[in-house]
Amino acid sequence: MRTLFLRLVGVFAVSVAAAAASQVPTAPGQTLDRQAGTTALVFDRSFLGHLAGDTGHPERPERLTAIMDGLDSAGLLDTLQRVPARRATDDELALVHTLGYVNLVKRELANVQGLTNLSTGDTAASAGTLDAAYMAAGGVLNAVDAVMEGRAKNAFCPVRPPGHHATSDRGMGFCVFNNVAIAARYAQQVHGAGRVLIVDWDYHHGNGTEDAFYDDESILYFSTHDYAAYPGTGAPARTGSGNGRGLNINVPLSRGAGDADILRAFQESLVPAARAFKPDLILVSAGFDGMRNDLLGNLDITPEGFVAITRVVTDLADELCDGRVVSVLEGGYRLDGLADSVVAHVRALTTAD
Ligand SMILES: [Zn+2]
Repeated sequence: MRTLFLRLVGVFAVSVAAAAASQVPTAPGQTLDRQAGTTALVFDRSFLGHLAGDTGHPERPERLTAIMDGLDSAGLLDTLQRVPARRATDDELALVHTLGYVNLVKRELANVQGLTNLSTGDTAASAGTLDAAYMAAGGVLNAVDAVMEGRAKNAFCPVRPPGHHATSDRGMGFCVFNNVAIAARYAQQVHGAGRVLIVDWDYHHGNGTEDAFYDDESILYFSTHDYAAYPGTGAPARTGSGNGRGLNINVPLSRGAGDADILRAFQESLVPAARAFKPDLILVSAGFDGMRNDLLGNLDITPEGFVAITRVVTDLADELCDGRVVSVLEGGYRLDGLADSVVAHVRALTTAD
């Protein structure tokens, strides 16, 4: 299977060339000549070069190997439009992060021997981390380009390191750069997206994303999470401030909560808020550590549950923003469950109307 996986990476360049040939630039709101139902996939080998700890650390490269093998075994890999990753520029990272933090990351992670820890928090790093972090952030931006330009209807980005805990000036919780937050700002600045909805169903609260947009009227942040878990943020009373009041929605789930519980949160809280907000793009912080028997999480969500909440998101996207969804991997640590959950999620993306 590993050999097959590497072979598939090898044919990647051919797929990219074919995808580029079908490019149909459009702007939001225009009638899109998009390839109906096309789901893009952004994967790069550099994402495997990041080590977050010693052998056995849950945030490990094998997570992505399991995902890619799972997509292949399910017959989905050949149906996805491969979009290449690229390095984010420092200016793009600075859409969310301070240049001081970007420079700190470059300084501390430039010449790592073995393992080190980012001085800002609990994020371990290796020699491959700096490249992976830049490629992950930039890869998601390429997915935003593909979806906003109508080359793909939606996209899934299995990237590492994850991002939603990273604040403007602090990497923490396995995260270096906040891939989804950067993508939201990029969609606004480069593609003219007026309003962006961020749906975060990771088991943990995305404190970095909440921080980035807490007083922002142009970003709606919706998160389900275990409030008792790391990092201890995500109180429902935190609803936003200033012009962003009402646009930060935290819905804690009880430990052991399952498919019906998270689906209810989506239907009762997300759907009416999204309809009132009318986003031009939906980004998903797709963490799967709420899955049954995850190594770090304490929820009980099955692949069918992830399909159900994916459908809520794609139905909203079809209703409100011409189907535009870019989904980005965050957590999820039991390898077989991660693969099954991602396959179910991606299949739901590919079959969105
Ligand atoms: Zn998580």
